[in-house]
Amino acid sequence: MKYLLAALPLLLASFNLTALELPLNSPVPGGIIHLPLQGKESPKVIYRKHRVMVVPATATRYADQADWVALVGIPLSAKAGTETVNINGNNLSFKIESKQYKEQRLVIKNKRKVNPTPLDMTRINKEKKEILTALASWSEPKTHAPVTTLLKPAQGPHSSPFGLRRFFNDQPRKPHSGLDIAAPKNSPIIAPAPAKVVATGDYFFNGRTVILDHGNGLTSLYCHMNRIDVKLGETLKTGDQLGTIGATGRVTGPHLHWGVSLNNARIDPTLLMVESK
Ligand SMILES: [Zn+2]
Repeated sequence: MKYLLAALPLLLASFNLTALELPLNSPVPGGIIHLPLQGKESPKVIYRKHRVMVVPATATRYADQADWVALVGIPLSAKAGTETVNINGNNLSFKIESKQYKEQRLVIKNKRKVNPTPLDMTRINKEKKEILTALASWSEPKTHAPVTTLLKPAQGPHSSPFGLRRFFNDQPRKPHSGLDIAAPKNSPIIAPAPAKVVATGDYFFNGRTVILDHGNGLTSLYCHMNRIDVKLGETLKTGDQLGTIGATGRVTGPHLHWGVSLNNARIDPTLLMVESK
């Protein structure tokens, strides 16, 4: 195992990594918590039945105090208080703080997109399964360093932040699980990091959609696209074009809905946009 530890800086160097930038530490629902861990081998960390990303602490600011850092995504539905992760079979507790996200009320003209018909529901449930499976992807890419930060995938103002408590035509719906970037129709959308395409489709609510797997439980979702330029199973480099901005699915105008998941928890994408801040 000593050999493995000695090889780590080499492994990181082979990815041209002098420093591994981490997402922001934000221990709230919809946030990410950093858990510095000790051990010779990379620990297997499980949170709410999902595998958690663990990166070597070597190239991070935790280098002096830890061997590894677990990056745990916290679901929006989590409550403030004590949570537990399992590390190699042992439980470790951590605290999450409360966060009150703002309310948003939207008027959707297409009533069917708010109260779908039974036939629509059959389609919606089928699509939901496909989307949820893709978002929960786990892979361990060997061709690039662990992805812990993301570029902004499209240029434009943030028209709806992550976490808004939403009402469509005065009916309460799930909170906003992504970040909306407003941009004119047909503006480019790029891959914010190396990835593999794990789903593409034209879905009832999300419209034309691409889902990317960046490895180690980090996935990202691109909705309401006008055009899709990638294929299922394709491997992408940072900056490759995914397609263009559109207004497909349940929308009030052209924009990109960008969702980011870590260990299957929907988290605030801006926490990973360290480089573009
Ligand atoms: Zn959105």
